[in-house]
Amino acid sequence: MPAYAPDSVMLPSSAPHGFLIDMDGVIYRGNQLIPGAERFISDLLRLELPFFFLTNNSQRTRRDVVTKLSRLGITVAESHIYTCAMATARFLAHQKPNGTAFVIGEGGLLNALHENGYSVVDHDPDYVVIGEGRAVTYEMMERAIRMVLGGAKLIATNLDPPCPTQDGLRPGCGALVAMIETATGRKAFSVGKPSAVMMRAARKELGLDAIRTTMIGDTMDTDILGAVQLGYRAILVLSGGTSREDLAAFAYRPDMIVNSISDLSAAELAGLNGHSA
Ligand SMILES: [Mg+2]
Repeated sequence: MPAYAPDSVMLPSSAPHGFLIDMDGVIYRGNQLIPGAERFISDLLRLELPFFFLTNNSQRTRRDVVTKLSRLGITVAESHIYTCAMATARFLAHQKPNGTAFVIGEGGLLNALHENGYSVVDHDPDYVVIGEGRAVTYEMMERAIRMVLGGAKLIATNLDPPCPTQDGLRPGCGALVAMIETATGRKAFSVGKPSAVMMRAARKELGLDAIRTTMIGDTMDTDILGAVQLGYRAILVLSGGTSREDLAAFAYRPDMIVNSISDLSAAELAGLNGHSA
């Protein structure tokens, strides 16, 4: 990677390599663990390589995600989880400390906002914050639209259009946001993947340099696009929503394409060959 050579010269050779790993389509599909995921994660833990599970799902708290993973057979700590709800709440706390938000979303998002000094209100908020959830009603959307027209800033936790579920696609956060954008003529600011806000914050929290960061994901528009923009190594797995034929529609490409996480070696990707045993 010659374009990055000047940076790499500045780095100590002992600098760690680390990973940002999407979950849905990479680690599991619905309630099915993808073969090889458990081995890859246990290698990361054994080799003490820094990593985050990086998710655009704002519904679950970190603890909820840890529980879901442990039921699938993967044991990690809450400190290994980085959600777009956390990224959004931290971003808002930085933009306007101790602000107020009207929220369309669930526990993960509400919790993250509270933890970051925000109050959830039902009138006159600083921000209208959109996540996903099954409890959304037309009345809530109408209120959100009136608040944005009244001056509240529109924030999206992510812009995923549809999201896969076990029974087929459901409308994603991006679909809700589009409704509000159309009705108000305002554009939302989105924090989740591929936004640099989330992808950069996660890397920094792991203490990694961009050139020693690998993103593993199954979605071109989020995981791979974000990684390409930030200069991370981008690995596309074909075990989720993207097939090899889909790649023709994109003007950018990942650095590596594999059928699934079972084709990847954590030690090799981190440049630890010979030390891994
Ligand atoms: Mg995914």
